[in-house]
Amino acid sequence: MELEATFVCAYCFQVNTIMVDSTGGVDQEYVEDCQVCCRPNQLRITIDEELETVDVSTEAP
Ligand SMILES: [Zn+2]
Repeated sequence: MELEATFVCAYCFQVNTIMVDSTGGVDQEYVEDCQVCCRPNQLRITIDEELETVDVSTEAP
């Protein structure tokens, strides 16, 4: 299942929309490049499978 989520870039503070694949697990960490400034954001993803919501926290790697 793919869920839509947003994160705020740690560098330029623009909102990015991403698709999170829940088959990767309910807790995921990966680097996603900002769609605006192309700088890498370290994302920590927490999926609630019952509510089908995604919590994303961002830090600069
Ligand atoms: Zn950015």
